[in-house]
Amino acid sequence: MTSENNIVLIAEDDESGFQVLSFTVERYTNLKPIRAKNGQEALMACRNTPGIVLVLMDIKMPLMDGKEATRLIKKEFPELKIIATTAYALYGDEQIFRAAGCDDYLAKPIRKSAFLEMLQRHGFETRRINPE
Ligand SMILES: [Mg+2]
Repeated sequence: MTSENNIVLIAEDDESGFQVLSFTVERYTNLKPIRAKNGQEALMACRNTPGIVLVLMDIKMPLMDGKEATRLIKKEFPELKIIATTAYALYGDEQIFRAAGCDDYLAKPIRKSAFLEMLQRHGFETRRINPE
């Protein structure tokens, strides 16, 4: 068990969606990604995994969606940062995510630069993106 608080929980049911975020986290931050595949797993991970400092929360997931998971996680861990991610955002959705307790919101497809700026805005260090 680590005493470092450096874990980012990526709650994402889609494999490629998880891979993209996890790759970016590993390459450009000092955070360590772990995964939940639905809202129930996300809630359990928050309860059982020490060191989680950030949750990237897909909204559309099976069993328990990201809005409900966010609401329950925030009830138990009000200080934990949760950033909603979704491909299905409609006008007004951001208000709904915020009402559920999300601290911020990223629309899919997630651009690397927007993702890293978001992390910086919330106080996480990131490495510079090298032009490729
Ligand atoms: Mg999904």
